[in-house]
Amino acid sequence: MKISKVSHISIACRNLESHLKLFSEQLGVPCSGTEEVQSQGVKVAFIELPNVRIELIAPLDDRANLNRFLEKRGEGLHHISLAVDDIESVLSELGSKGVKAIDEKPRSGAGGKRVAFLHPKTTGGVLIELEED
Ligand code: ZN
Repeated sequence: MKISKVSHISIACRNLESHLKLFSEQLGVPCSGTEEVQSQGVKVAFIELPNVRIELIAPLDDRANLNRFLEKRGEGLHHISLAVDDIESVLSELGSKGVKAIDEKPRSGAGGKRVAFLHPKTTGGVLIELEED
């Protein structure tokens, strides 16, 4: 099992456009592209910085799980994504160490990468995403 780096930090937004404006116009770091991830019902935008990507995510419609998060916690930090070499072996090793996964099996995330979320109850209250690099 190898975790190589932080892939990205993800921020939950109600409105992607207003967050894009904040990053590009006020903070001066432009967006490098947007994408719809139908499997998760979200629209995603990436802000590329030299050492890490910031991912902005907003619900595509009422069905997205992200709506529940936004209702309960509001906009803000959503998850930290860690790059891993072999997602299945990392999931099984973490499982044997008592770290629970929300996704028992990897699913398709932004950029077609395989991802799986770990349960915040077993990761100190932080939603962690594993992303196969
Ligand atoms: Zn992510």
